Amino acid sequence: MAARSRSKAKSVKAKKRAGKGNGGTGRGLLERLKEGAVICAEGYVFELERRGYLQAGAFVPEVLFEHPEVVEQLHLDFVHAGSDVTQALTYYVHREKLRLIGREKDLAPMNRAALRIAKKVARKTGTLFAGDICNTNIYDPNDPKAIKEVERIFDEQVGWAVEAGVDYFVAETLAWVGEAELALKAIKRQSKVPTVVTFAMHQEPILRDGLTPAEACRRMEQAGADVVGLNCHRGPATMMPLIRDIRQAVKCHVAALPVPYRTTPQQPSFMSLTDPCCNNQRAFPVGLDPFMATRSEIFDFGREAFALNVRYLGVCCGAGPHHIRALAESLGRHPPASRYTVDMSKHSFFGTDKMIRRIQTEYRDKA
Ligand SMILES: [Zn+2]
Repeated sequence: MAARSRSKAKSVKAKKRAGKGNGGTGRGLLERLKEGAVICAEGYVFELERRGYLQAGAFVPEVLFEHPEVVEQLHLDFVHAGSDVTQALTYYVHREKLRLIGREKDLAPMNRAALRIAKKVARKTGTLFAGDICNTNIYDPNDPKAIKEVERIFDEQVGWAVEAGVDYFVAETLAWVGEAELALKAIKRQSKVPTVVTFAMHQEPILRDGLTPAEACRRMEQAGADVVGLNCHRGPATMMPLIRDIRQAVKCHVAALPVPYRTTPQQPSFMSLTDPCCNNQRAFPVGLDPFMATRSEIFDFGREAFALNVRYLGVCCGAGPHHIRALAESLGRHPPASRYTVDMSKHSFFGTDKMIRRIQTEYRDKA
């Protein structure tokens, strides 16, 4: 009996600790943002697809059941590279997506698996543990039945994340302000932890219900979001002008998490990029490699965004750990992965070290 009540007291204490939303380190999202930038690695489904554990198309992370160790390692890789956050891979683990692939019965266990894996990594590494909800793909402002279903989708996913004790919530990749409002309401109904709301902009510089991103973000701030901004779809070049507008429109913290692709004014979203090498076919989603941003481009993005006082930073679909490391280094940080940041001084042709033979360095221009 005594042992039982002791363990009960222990679990109550653990719950209290988790409820503080501080990642076990004494500093929650808002405290960290007050002090400086917070890096959140996103885009897990693209990286898992590239690693051969997830199918492009539906983009549902069945890997959570099939290879949980791969998901755990990916979280660890991003933390090693400088992410301050371990975000649960519940992106596209919602009822609509699981219905689409015929696995609706796995909905609850798959969400719980994602949350369990992320929490384990977050607590082990002292990173923040983030819950995640996202675009449902059924939202239609003129369809009350669809809206009801969106509410159900958000409610149940928020419920599982609250049960897991997330430090804060992310509602992401939303193209409708109306859908974002439902997401924020669902979070506020069940939880008091901080909330990040990020919109994903397609080719047009307006949300699908007609608002500019600045107006949409202002509306989210007024509705109680702690951090507002943009994620996914656009590369740094076509996201930053919109981020500048958002920064001027709101008082709260701003988020910028572009995709690591070279989007252009003519093709501002990664879904619209066409590859001149391949009959100008759509490059999305598995032909985007030639458009990949270099580490130095992500470094420049980080510098530029932070100089604007945009503090919630990350890279979305397409990001690898090397991008996250570049982002961290742009903020003057030295994550564990920086132990291996490029140093050409001992390179066989381009090195400057005295031990590199002249027979090599003189051949440099022909290498
Ligand atoms: Zn993305």
